Amino acid sequence: MRVAYAQAGVGKSRGVMYFPFINMLPCPPNAQGLSHGRVHCCTQCHLILEEIWGAYRLSLSEELISSVSSFLVRYHTAMAIEGCEPAHSQRGLASRSGSSMSVCYLCGAELFAGGEYQLHVNPPGRCGEREPFFPFLTVHPPAPRAKPADATGLVSACNLCYHDLRAQWALHENRGQGPSTPSTSSVPSGNPQLPSSPWARQYNCEAFVCFFCRQEQRRQGRLCAVTMARLPVFLYAPRSTRTLLVDDGKRLVIGACVECKAMVQAGQRMQQDRDRHGHGSSDEERREPESASPRSRHKASADCVCPLSHTAEG
Ligand SMILES: [Zn+2]
Ligand SMILES: [Zn+2]
Ligand SMILES: [Zn+2]
Repeated sequence: MRVAYAQAGVGKSRGVMYFPFINMLPCPPNAQGLSHGRVHCCTQCHLILEEIWGAYRLSLSEELISSVSSFLVRYHTAMAIEGCEPAHSQRGLASRSGSSMSVCYLCGAELFAGGEYQLHVNPPGRCGEREPFFPFLTVHPPAPRAKPADATGLVSACNLCYHDLRAQWALHENRGQGPSTPSTSSVPSGNPQLPSSPWARQYNCEAFVCFFCRQEQRRQGRLCAVTMARLPVFLYAPRSTRTLLVDDGKRLVIGACVECKAMVQAGQRMQQDRDRHGHGSSDEERREPESASPRSRHKASADCVCPLSHTAEG
């Protein structure tokens, strides 16, 4: 266990590294919270902190030590077990050979085998309006190269947009329920919250908020999917409601902007290179040689219990 400081000046001497972003991380179950401006953390996370601090000393950019995302990006890179999805890249579109590749109707991401989801424009089946459907798609302009709704009333969407729209549908549905609890509801009671007609519902699908940099961005051409290990630090990371995140119980797929995805991938390539250029047994790497490559050792930390990694196993 190592110690990390959240504020300047709590350490014994000046020059001790500190990270205000630690204040913004929720404390995971079983972990000790911030006390006297410091937390305990595992060696792996500490190495990431050292790396951030090194970059901070060089650039003096406060952003590095105050934003959660600078930690999350590095943490993800260090922990990356499986690579990113076969790049949902929106670049070099034109160069693809006369493709019949389908693209997401909403964000324009290319859809690879297994990554294509269907949204209903009209109520599917005859069993009424319970299954999500999205009539607004008939008037919503498709992303460039996206196919309009086909004869069966289906449009193709990527994992992130598909789950986002279904989540928004569910919100609309729930809004219509619960007239039985009028007084406890915090909803302003002027309008008795009639369920909005599924035909008239409005959906937010122009923009999203990047998980890493938390900037709101245009969805078309900017939304990228990043696959991450299902670690609590990602699950509990503070995020906006407009952040896109799909949790299938095995891994997380999150919406990142083009720049953040590039940063994550660059980090992963570096890591792969280092791994390839030979580090011996991972057992040896667990010991304390300060000179060892930091990244190669992070792999072991999938079950660390420190507040930073948020993986509380007991
Ligand atoms: Zn999409
Ligand atoms: Zn971003
Ligand atoms: Zn840790």
